[in-house]
Amino acid sequence: MNGRERTPSPAGPAFTAPAARRWRELDPRLQMLILNKVWCVGCEATTTIIEPTGHLVRGDLILEGTCLRCRGVVRRVVEGD
Ligand SMILES: [Zn+2]
Repeated sequence: MNGRERTPSPAGPAFTAPAARRWRELDPRLQMLILNKVWCVGCEATTTIIEPTGHLVRGDLILEGTCLRCRGVVRRVVEGD
């Protein structure tokens, strides 16, 4: 434990209130799956999203953050029901 490996913990101020509500409804295992399997166009591989922000667009939860590897912008859409 060196404090550098932080577990992504969104639903903070970077999430809009409706997005945070939607996010909290998800199973924690699904949350981890979503955060750890984000396609990065820079890496051309799945990556982990860090410092995600979240907002809702027409019922879909849009997560935007930084690629753990290349620090590029990555984006993940979590579709609504
Ligand atoms: Zn990347």
